[in-house]
Amino acid sequence: MHLLILGGTTEARRLAELLADAPTPGLRVTTSLAGRVAAPRLPPGEVRVGGFGGADGLAAWLREHAVDLLIDATHPFAGTISFNAARAAATAHVPLLALRRPGWTPAEGDTWHEAASLRDAARLLPRLGRRVFLTTGRMGLAAFADLDGLWFLVRSVDPPAAPHPARMETLLDRGPFTLDGEREVLRRHRIDVVVTKDSGGAATAPKLTAAREAGLPVVVVRRPAAPAGVPVVPGPEEAARWVGEACAARRAGQAAGAPPAGGGA
Ligand code: NAP
Repeated sequence: MHLLILGGTTEARRLAELLADAPTPGLRVTTSLAGRVAAPRLPPGEVRVGGFGGADGLAAWLREHAVDLLIDATHPFAGTISFNAARAAATAHVPLLALRRPGWTPAEGDTWHEAASLRDAARLLPRLGRRVFLTTGRMGLAAFADLDGLWFLVRSVDPPAAPHPARMETLLDRGPFTLDGEREVLRRHRIDVVVTKDSGGAATAPKLTAAREAGLPVVVVRRPAAPAGVPVVPGPEEAARWVGEACAARRAGQAAGAPPAGGGA
């Protein structure tokens, strides 16, 4: 059995670790990374890097590499690859599971402003604050480039490229982040508004607690649409169980003399 994990997230790496820690006999695991981060944290197992060339390219890759199972464990804001995965899995007849961490929900004391997109977030900002902690990553900074009256602290793993806001300082860092650390960032930079994607998960959630404590507004960018009809699990443990069950079903089918299922040829 060959499993392809579309990765680039903590959960994708954790899934590869779970499968490596308790290996299923005969299971080969490959993780695919887009190649956006210069020095990514690599998961165990095989790793390939770079785009496939759209849904058709991914379907061809699934066939060429005899992939039997596909897990889309990409970031909830990676909208294109998830739709490509759904199309490619249908074309290549490979079972697909989405591993998508649940979004965040506001707690008492939070002042959240929902935005439909980064551009919508930029539209809201001038009436909410002057010193912005922008935690939406280095892609998409163009949406904020015209806000000359505001100062931005941009946190990203790699340095951002233009176009970006004129008045900006960069904080190169990657999660997980601690509550003490986030409190200190807000205090040191005299932040008065925070912008985040609704990424979900624990690794980057402490900024929300720190903002709540400091009484700061948070602009939360809503998730893009995800493909319909794809089964979703919230965590790596559930995804690992799905893989285990699929492998067991394959073994049972082979023992009963049934032809192999899935896209592997
Ligand atoms: P995207 O807009 O959905 O994807 C753009 C293109 O990048 C895809 O069409 C595909 O190229 C390629 N790609 C994306 N993920 C890939 C993967 N895991 N393996 C191989 N190719 C991949 O994605 P994005 O927002 O640019 O994010 C890129 C990667 O960064 C994702 O893997 C995601 O998990 C990770 N990430 C994204 C965010 C975020 O906020 N967007 C945050 C943290 C991590 P082809 O069409 O050529 O196949």
